[in-house]
Amino acid sequence: MSLLIIRLLVFVLVFWAGWRLWQYWQQARPSEKTSDKDDPGPKMVKCQECGVHLPADEAIQSGDLHFCSIDHRDAYQSSSDKD
Ligand SMILES: [Zn+2]
Repeated sequence: MSLLIIRLLVFVLVFWAGWRLWQYWQQARPSEKTSDKDDPGPKMVKCQECGVHLPADEAIQSGDLHFCSIDHRDAYQSSSDKD
């Protein structure tokens, strides 16, 4: 009789430990997503021609400068050439 209770207790303990481990694992994984909330997200850059902000991976890069489109890159470079 007491052996049955011990077995039951061990089963409950293992189940509880597994459940806690699962909870810990579930809390640990979304922390990658919550850390994204702390970060500003994708890096935003400003078009040197019109001043619009857009993600860096969508911007046209020319040296250290960023542009929203190839047209604005060409327009900025042609206007800077005139100066
Ligand atoms: Zn622009």
